[in-house]
Amino acid sequence: MRLQIRASRLPRAHPPVQLILQHQEQPQMATTVDHLEAHHRYAVIRGFTDANDVRVPLETTGVIRLISIDAGFTLIHIDWERDRANGETMAERLTFSLAATDGPRNNHMREYFEKGEIVLPPRESKPPDAPEPEPARDKLSAPTLDRFERKQPQEELLLDELAVACDCGPVFHRPIYPAAHLAAHACLRCGAVTVTRQLGDDGRFHGKPWTAYWTVPTNQAFVDWLARFPRIAVNYSGAPWRWPMSASLVRYPTLLYPADVRVADKRELKALEVMLQDAQAALTRAHRLAFACGDIPDIPGDLPDDFRSFATLRRALDLRPGSDVDTLKAHAHLLSSSCELAASLLLRREDACALMMDWLNAKDDDTFSAAIAMLRDSRRLFSSPDDKRLIRPVLNIMNSLPLGELKDVPGRVESCQKFEALLVAVADLGANGREMLDGLADLQKKLAKKDAYTADAIRIVINELNGIDNRPAEYRLVASVAPPSWRGR
Ligand SMILES: [Zn+2]
Repeated sequence: MRLQIRASRLPRAHPPVQLILQHQEQPQMATTVDHLEAHHRYAVIRGFTDANDVRVPLETTGVIRLISIDAGFTLIHIDWERDRANGETMAERLTFSLAATDGPRNNHMREYFEKGEIVLPPRESKPPDAPEPEPARDKLSAPTLDRFERKQPQEELLLDELAVACDCGPVFHRPIYPAAHLAAHACLRCGAVTVTRQLGDDGRFHGKPWTAYWTVPTNQAFVDWLARFPRIAVNYSGAPWRWPMSASLVRYPTLLYPADVRVADKRELKALEVMLQDAQAALTRAHRLAFACGDIPDIPGDLPDDFRSFATLRRALDLRPGSDVDTLKAHAHLLSSSCELAASLLLRREDACALMMDWLNAKDDDTFSAAIAMLRDSRRLFSSPDDKRLIRPVLNIMNSLPLGELKDVPGRVESCQKFEALLVAVADLGANGREMLDGLADLQKKLAKKDAYTADAIRIVINELNGIDNRPAEYRLVASVAPPSWRGR
């Protein structure tokens, strides 16, 4: 086995789920609601009528293609291909209120939907009028991609579902971390790295979802530099079982592969993943990333803006706890590729606790974002979950958030997104002292009438802090990773 491993770690990961519609700057994250996720068939085990009076009787079946939350965080949209009696399918949107108290709703979807097999979007269904870079498909019908000799194709080439221009097979292909506007994927077998643009359509308007990778001609020097970053596998079903939330807050379990590891076959791949998983299990997310990154050369001059998240991460590798605090704060933003690294550096500062509490009170969203990144990993600052320096300030902050109605969104308070971020951080932190649990219960009562959705999020966090697994029994297969110790233990 040709393995050269530096220390690294992580929980067991499944092959990454490929997402569609990734034209945005930030890659779109997979939204799941309870056990509902895209590209699975579901059978309706209890009939219902959705918020738009769409009737779905018992025993209806269909394949979910996209789950999304509306911009006001009030509605869940589920776009599915509903099976019809005549054997055809029909694209249909189901809509549910996040504040619903009966019918299909968050935490109750399994009472209505039974999960079936995975059904990937048919790749041949790409509509002829889809926006495509010019040609090259004919050239691809050549029998081999190995002719590129592990170099970036300097032409626009349709790879269909392959993300790397090699013939090893998709089982060896992994995205390179971090995600960027143009994605880079690597082959763990031959080492090829390919920059691609992913095209896709969720099919909501014509019922024909599709996804495909096109190579993007890119200077080989840049590709060689991207190749020095770690590869990643993301377990999209392994996040804590909470509620549909802002993608920037969801932490999926990930497995990181140092850039120089190679395997010869599937057996070696499996052994590698077991080894990495064991090695990474005890490290914090920041340490896993720092170790997996190793020595990455300086940022090449004229690096295209499409790869700026790589440059951000590379710059963060040079930061230290004593670096300029505004620079650290910018790197610690939840949307930054260097978020966890920078937050861990901030937490090693002498003034970390005061800084974090100060920033949690900030009106400025970017400062608040960095403070949340710190708070969720701040165990090392506190002696125990009862530490007064943690519990009281955090409860005070939550109790002082304004509770006016969110503009144009009845039933949501204006601070709902701050509540969400704080609740996620408290849950990640495992701050399960009595004072925190009592404080959260009071807050839940206070919010029950003003914002039922936030009140329910508090209930879910209280459950989690009490050791109650919010995930239903049949979905508890993914082992959770123990968070790092409190300082005093
Ligand atoms: Zn390969």
